[in-house]
Amino acid sequence: MKIGKNAITVLERRYLIKDENGEVVETVDELFDRVAGAIAGADSLYNTDADRQALAEEFRELMTSLEFLPNSPTLMNAGRPLGQLSACFVLPVEDSMEAIFEAIKQAALIHKSGGGTGFSFSRLRASGSTVKTTGGVASGPVSFMRVFNMATEAVKQGGTRRGANMGILRVDHPDILAFIDCKKNNADITNFNISVGITEEFMEAAIAGRDYALYDPRTRQEVGRLNAKEVFDRIVDGAWRNGEPGIIFLDRLNRDNVVPGQGQIESTNPCGEQPLLPYESCNLGSINLVTVLRRMDDGSFVIDYDKLGRIVKLAVHFLDNVIDVNKYPLEIIDKTTKATRKIGLGVMGWADMLLRMGIPYNSEAAVELAGRVMGFITETGRQESRELARARGSFPLFAESIYADGEPLRNATVTTIAPTGTLSILAGCSSGVEPVFAFAYIRNVMDGTEMIEVNPVLKEVLTERGLYSDELMKKVIEAGSLQHIDEIPDDIKRVFVCSHDISPLYHVKMQAAFQQHTDNAVSKTVNFTHDATREDVAEVYLQAYRLGCKGVTIYRDGSRDSQVLNIGHVK
Ligand code: ADP
Repeated sequence: MKIGKNAITVLERRYLIKDENGEVVETVDELFDRVAGAIAGADSLYNTDADRQALAEEFRELMTSLEFLPNSPTLMNAGRPLGQLSACFVLPVEDSMEAIFEAIKQAALIHKSGGGTGFSFSRLRASGSTVKTTGGVASGPVSFMRVFNMATEAVKQGGTRRGANMGILRVDHPDILAFIDCKKNNADITNFNISVGITEEFMEAAIAGRDYALYDPRTRQEVGRLNAKEVFDRIVDGAWRNGEPGIIFLDRLNRDNVVPGQGQIESTNPCGEQPLLPYESCNLGSINLVTVLRRMDDGSFVIDYDKLGRIVKLAVHFLDNVIDVNKYPLEIIDKTTKATRKIGLGVMGWADMLLRMGIPYNSEAAVELAGRVMGFITETGRQESRELARARGSFPLFAESIYADGEPLRNATVTTIAPTGTLSILAGCSSGVEPVFAFAYIRNVMDGTEMIEVNPVLKEVLTERGLYSDELMKKVIEAGSLQHIDEIPDDIKRVFVCSHDISPLYHVKMQAAFQQHTDNAVSKTVNFTHDATREDVAEVYLQAYRLGCKGVTIYRDGSRDSQVLNIGHVK
């Protein structure tokens, strides 16, 4: 097995089965056997002669070779009594006391099982509106978000993960200004990422400097007007201050809504990559791109598309099985999820792959390759989904879907790009489609000693050239980048660029390139240096809009009190 030391530590702490005294009672081998066996089991639902043993072996090999890993809940819970396997859920929040507290209860059940929840609060009446039964005054979406937040805090997810939420409010809700400012204080509403749900009408008004209308969510009557540019600037100001709020483009999410007859998509999961209908869930999985590189005789690396194709097909089969094996936290989620059978196959190790191929992340060549690789994955994934549809039937709502005129599909969506916060540690590669954050850093080991961690590709390249030394790495750590270190040759500097060496524009271009070939959305944080201005942030929001992204999350270095490495998402 190729699993590294850091990965074993993470597995022991959070994934391996423990007894009631907290002692680990499962080995890493047993974990992968457990997951592979449970997921292969679904094949017998469709074919009583299925060779489950052989399939389980293929799934096990797929994971232990680190070519593909399913999202954390699947690794933690498959083949165990809890059995909840999805990372992503969206719950509706209706405008009544019963419905609000019902949603809190539902979220608690999901958090307990390791999933993350997204909500739109746009249907809640504005603060100050009247409450018919009591004659009192409603407190509005933001005050209810605090209740959701407290509930999340209390359910510590059985000691594995703290819950994570996405909170969305439409830009035309009367409480929008309070929402934009609700995380101004870093200590507030900490279990939520928030995003303003933006419409294209709003964006056009902001660009033109026009007013736009606010609507009462209950009556749809216009109740006020704001200047779109001022609201846009306020969003930008918040993001510049501490990364919140992000924005999502609601019209774009709904343009890709596969079954519009089932209602509107109003929210995504916590990290933004998975738009879902109310009560839908989705399971994700990621291919480690480093494993599909082939070394040529001259030492260069090329992508082995045959191998990538085989991995994609087996991964789609795996994720489709997860839907059947999954034990859903609510009956209605079971039903809604199985009606569309969405899966989210994505990638990790993208930056490491570029390093090996000698292509700078901030280059047109990289942007072009992103489109080619992701286009191949989505196309091959769909082919497999069609084959599964032939054997198992299309997803039940296929006939009313936007694909109804084409060949049947087993899954309404096939691809999603997740952050892979934990998966990339297990696989020992760069996370998702993000650039490398730092090529070398100091890790504090538990016994108080410090260890230098170096990006494996950089270490290999420098060692091959006889340049590697701990001294040099200390310089890299101090400088935070390779760009101004004299001992490092220019050709290495050109390729080994980290997050802060890459202009925000290239971050957005890369996100857009992946988005163009992804059914769902792309998790990506656009990193800014500390001295970036509000205008820089505004420019990136506009670029993301122009380039067809479904949303944007930004982070300006040092703008939160406690900064974790992978700042873009909650852990
Ligand atoms: P992993 O690498 O653990 O599989 P990701 O970092 O790729 O997970 O995150 C994917 C999705 O999993 C997130 O968008 C969110 O929906 C869910 N998720 C991540 N972290 C948490 C958490 N602490 N609690 C609940 N859900 C989470």
